[in-house]
Amino acid sequence: MSEQSLDSRLAVIALGSNIGDTKAYVTGAAEAVANLEGVTLVKMSKLYQSEPAHLVDQDIFTNAVMTVRVDNSLSTIDLLHQLQAIEINFHRVRHEHWGPRTLDLDIIDVQGELSDTDELRIPHPYALVRDFVVTPLLEIAPGYVLADGSPVSRDTVQYGAVISVDD
Ligand code: ATP
Ligand code: CA
Ligand code: CA
Repeated sequence: MSEQSLDSRLAVIALGSNIGDTKAYVTGAAEAVANLEGVTLVKMSKLYQSEPAHLVDQDIFTNAVMTVRVDNSLSTIDLLHQLQAIEINFHRVRHEHWGPRTLDLDIIDVQGELSDTDELRIPHPYALVRDFVVTPLLEIAPGYVLADGSPVSRDTVQYGAVISVDD
């Protein structure tokens, strides 16, 4: 089965929150992403609770991963800007890099695309070392291979251990 098609491409988006009603933020943000013009939901993972990955002295996170199809009329940079607008709508407060936030939306991968600029790095450089990305992604897309050819596997995870999953 090919993930490519003439008029759209598959993308993986990771959602995270560790301030306030984290589950409501993640669920609401996923709905907002799925409702974007040119974006169609393929699959949404369950909600996972995970340990903070880098700055450990903060609350646990709610995380999820979604796969979407992105119409080729929407560039990946424009998708990123739409995701940033959703973050702002969810009252994201940015105190410090990797610190607590109401909502974080990262583009993990876009099939057929590589980017290595400060504004957009895909595949996401830390995707394979973060349990809170790998575990939900494997739930919804077992055997997923990143656009750079790296297979997604639990063998590479180093941080952000998943603590529990909502049924
Ligand atoms: P990390 O990227 O390690 O998860 P973070 O999510 O805390 O860290 P942010 O402060 O949310 O980092 O993002 C900083 C910048 O990252 C944004 O300005 C954005 O342009 C850039 N960026 C680069 N690649 C991506 C990507 N794949 N998805 C989302 N943002 C990205
Ligand atoms: Ca992030
Ligand atoms: Ca981010």
